[in-house]
Amino acid sequence: MSDQSTTSADCEHMLARVHQFLDQELDSASSDEIRAHLVACEPCLDRYDVEQAVKSLVNRCCGGDKAPSALRTKVLGQLAAAQATAHAQQD
Ligand SMILES: [Zn+2]
Repeated sequence: MSDQSTTSADCEHMLARVHQFLDQELDSASSDEIRAHLVACEPCLDRYDVEQAVKSLVNRCCGGDKAPSALRTKVLGQLAAAQATAHAQQD
């Protein structure tokens, strides 16, 4: 059951590409599609914020090398919690 205008299939499609989007590996049409979805879909925007936080932390701390394990665990824990919340809302 869903009362949202976007479907979970749209969300999964979007989230599958969010890392490529963050790495700027997508063409402009695909990037626009993801941005448009994020504007329309708050759960995905929340998750995108966490993904971006993970990426910026890793880049800032390590220059692409390994993240400090405590920091990485903490951020990934927040990501898992956000995903669990979103899945609970979809059910
Ligand atoms: Zn979505």
